[in-house]
Amino acid sequence: MTGLHAVVTGGAGFLGSHLCERLVHLNASVTCMDNFLTGSPGNVEHLMGRPGFRVMECDLTGFVHVPGPVDLVLHFASSASPADYLRHPIETLKAGSLGTLHALGLAREKDARFVLASTSEVYGDPLEHPQRESYWGNVNPVGPRSVYDEAKRFAESLTTAYRESRGVDTAIVRIFNTYGPRMRPHDGRAIPTFIRQALTGEPFTVAGDGTQTRSICYVDDTVSGVLALASSDFAGPVNIGNPVEMSVLELAETIRRLTRSCSPIRFVERPVDDPDVRRPDTSLAVRRLGWRPQIDPETGLLRTIAWFERELRGTDAAAVS
Ligand code: NAD
Repeated sequence: MTGLHAVVTGGAGFLGSHLCERLVHLNASVTCMDNFLTGSPGNVEHLMGRPGFRVMECDLTGFVHVPGPVDLVLHFASSASPADYLRHPIETLKAGSLGTLHALGLAREKDARFVLASTSEVYGDPLEHPQRESYWGNVNPVGPRSVYDEAKRFAESLTTAYRESRGVDTAIVRIFNTYGPRMRPHDGRAIPTFIRQALTGEPFTVAGDGTQTRSICYVDDTVSGVLALASSDFAGPVNIGNPVEMSVLELAETIRRLTRSCSPIRFVERPVDDPDVRRPDTSLAVRRLGWRPQIDPETGLLRTIAWFERELRGTDAAAVS
């Protein structure tokens, strides 16, 4: 990646900030574009001053201009946690539609490769398990989650149209649940919620009876998969995720054990259209990108817990002073 200029939209968010960090380490120039709706400048503060790194405050749904040549556009701007996209439904639809249109326009103008961050949510509540890229999905188009799911399905369609009718060199990555440092303790996703509850002595809130399954991928693995796709000539769509599947209750119990928490588990109402199962078939990523996840869930969770311990201590300290 040495000498290459990458634009990361949503670069101040959880995944985007890890992408920026890895690209900087690989000696790329990086422009992080973000409107800070759910991300924060603090996520990339440690990269400020590094050669070739810059942050542009910009809303992708409006006019987008980046001076000079660009080699790669990684389009990650969009709310991703259900709590965020239910709070910002129109913004989420606009990020997936107008935001993707403008990011594709930038890639076309600069003759850059374009990677769309799509999601396992395009499979909805899947009727096929594990999910292969050939599965078309089972999405409720008027359910509360549709603002995210349908925005991403539209974004995939738009990306494909730009590839086929405008000749843009595009790729689509379908990312499955990713976790790690820099998730917000209150972003509503299961892992940060359980870790926060464990560390603050609150009860674990498990949705439904907790038998619904998820497959969790540590952020470093997801970033490697995204960059393997970016460096290839493959258009995808390709699943990137860790195929180790566990129930949400098992996840809560694992976090309780790893944090040595005594918090009880409380069962709460399950969100509407919450998928019953989630597991990627990653054989295409293995075959086409030579990618497979390296970090097992316990190792990744321990790293994430250590980060949250530091964060929550910092927050307490700030609140006291
Ligand atoms: P995040 O909320 O932490 O990051 C999203 C970033 O996009 C934020 O910094 C936000 O401020 C920015 N943003 C939103 N709308 C914008 C706009 N109109 N203009 C400019 N910036 C905007 O979420 P995340 O978990 O880091 O997810 C990043 C991307 O990866 C999203 O596209 C998401 O759909 C995709 N993804 C994430 C996961 C996951 O498990 N984290 C799974 C599948 C797909």
